[in-house]
Amino acid sequence: MTKQKKKLVLVNPLNTSTKGLVIHRQVIYPPLGLGIIATLTPDDWEVELIDENFDSFEYREADLVGITALTSSVTRAYEIATIYEEKGIPTILGGIHASMMPEEAKKIVSTIVVGEVESVWKTLLEDFTKGKMKRQYTGQILPMEEMVRPKHEIFHKDYKFASVQTSRGCPMNCEFCSVPAFNGNSYRYRPIEDVLDELETINHSMVYFVDDNLIGYGRRAQRRTIEFCNGIIERGIKIEWFCSASMNFADNEEVLELAAKAGCRMVLLGIESERIEQLQNMNKRLNAKMGIDSYEIVFNKIHKYGIAVLGAFIYGLETDTPETMEARTSYINNAAIDSVQATVLTPLPGTRLFNRLQEDGKIRFNNFPQDWQHYHFGEIVWNHDLMNQETMNKEISKNWDELYNEKVLKKKFIRTLKQTKSPIAGIWSYGSNIQYHNLVFEHDDSRPQLNLEDIFGLKDVESTPFM
Ligand code: SF4
Repeated sequence: MTKQKKKLVLVNPLNTSTKGLVIHRQVIYPPLGLGIIATLTPDDWEVELIDENFDSFEYREADLVGITALTSSVTRAYEIATIYEEKGIPTILGGIHASMMPEEAKKIVSTIVVGEVESVWKTLLEDFTKGKMKRQYTGQILPMEEMVRPKHEIFHKDYKFASVQTSRGCPMNCEFCSVPAFNGNSYRYRPIEDVLDELETINHSMVYFVDDNLIGYGRRAQRRTIEFCNGIIERGIKIEWFCSASMNFADNEEVLELAAKAGCRMVLLGIESERIEQLQNMNKRLNAKMGIDSYEIVFNKIHKYGIAVLGAFIYGLETDTPETMEARTSYINNAAIDSVQATVLTPLPGTRLFNRLQEDGKIRFNNFPQDWQHYHFGEIVWNHDLMNQETMNKEISKNWDELYNEKVLKKKFIRTLKQTKSPIAGIWSYGSNIQYHNLVFEHDDSRPQLNLEDIFGLKDVESTPFM
């Protein structure tokens, strides 16, 4: 008689309560951590993924439930966990929020995983089988040689991108960022051959490299990127990709040339602000050191190789006023930036920014855990010294209107085509801009949602991953 398998239900919750710039169906990527858990789970378990990016949660029978959550989705994660806990089915919460707020999470779920899951998952399942699952498992920071490949086949087939990770950690220490606290404060690089092997196994032709900075810092990191891109080319891996990087992405043109040949179509640069003192305040050291005059050189070099620039900017910085935000918009609209991700300064738990604002009594949405659903980068969750809430809302809406109106987006598209001489880069960045437009104006009936086909008659375009 065959032994019945135990059932593990994995859940990727979605914050659907409010609009947000980062959380949206069209800009989502497969939940890599849950794919890694699927790989780590032995064969005597049946694994099922409920991914709210596509399907709203409906109760499924389970022996054990594993949920991942960002801060913005943790309120929803707790709702789902409570449904199971009330039926006596233990739930486990992992991901960055559980790592930053372990005591809060333990009040709702049976068990939490703090940090990276690889070193603890096997023990956790063994403990569960023995009826001795602990309240907390704390993962070690392992060398990347020990990273397992995610089981891509569990992800929904309609994801436009595959998510692939080549490194973890960051040596920088930006005040608003929780990456160093979660993944460590130095780069850990995955062996290149292992990443290339994984790329050969995935079915997607479009890949998002989820690394916080694909190329890292320094000459060694540049050599690694060159080797990686050469590996993609030499193995004949036909992919088009998008990644995040620092402003040093353009330091070595050989990197740019090979990245483009290996399929890089767009790069997200965390620019944040065009004002040096603001960059210094948030400890964005590399950008502050380079200075705004160097930015245009960086953008132009990237364009030379047919790669589009997606600039990420923050509004509502502590020293921002209506005038500085207006100046930021003017800078963005006039600079050689192809696509724009404009977010509101959001203090995430576990960051120095959050701790400082909380100590100063400035956190406005502080009825936790319920209020975490507001922490999605599209809403003002703290009290600004120089602008009241009404002014902030009005000014931010005005700036987003100036950034994402149809006229500006069309102008940017034409400029991208001229500068990159690459229709694909143009369409990727334009598609990304349209997507942000649709998010920003999602609840504004006077602003119609845009499609690529609406403008310029772009039809039957295959390379439109963002639409
Ligand atoms: S924002 Fe980017 S550079 Fe700064 S600490 Fe986070 S991952 Fe590193």
